[in-house]
Amino acid sequence: MESSGSVSFDLGVEAHFCNCDIQASLKTSWTEKNLGRRFWGCPRFGKKSMPLACVYFAWYDPPLYKRTLEFFPPLMRRIKMLEAELQKQREKERRLEIGLVVSCVLGLVGVHVALCF
Ligand SMILES: [Zn+2]
Repeated sequence: MESSGSVSFDLGVEAHFCNCDIQASLKTSWTEKNLGRRFWGCPRFGKKSMPLACVYFAWYDPPLYKRTLEFFPPLMRRIKMLEAELQKQREKERRLEIGLVVSCVLGLVGVHVALCF
């Protein structure tokens, strides 16, 4: 370990250690201002199973270019909207499948009842 608190990481990246003295996680920001920008953070942060996270934070990637900031947020909003629409369509498809199965079962029961009487 170096005096700066970092050591070589498996991926060829300098590892960082958070205030808990454990190896920090390399995470990716999904905010519009820093979309896709990676940062070091406490591996406990955001985990209910490990509530004692510290506030360690350090950027790994440099700030995004202005042009990138103009392009990516609208694309991400579009992707999220399309994913939501896809989810709605999948739920609708599932309901139709259930309706079809119920109709088939009721149809078979109806035929059976018609044949018996
Ligand atoms: Zn920590």
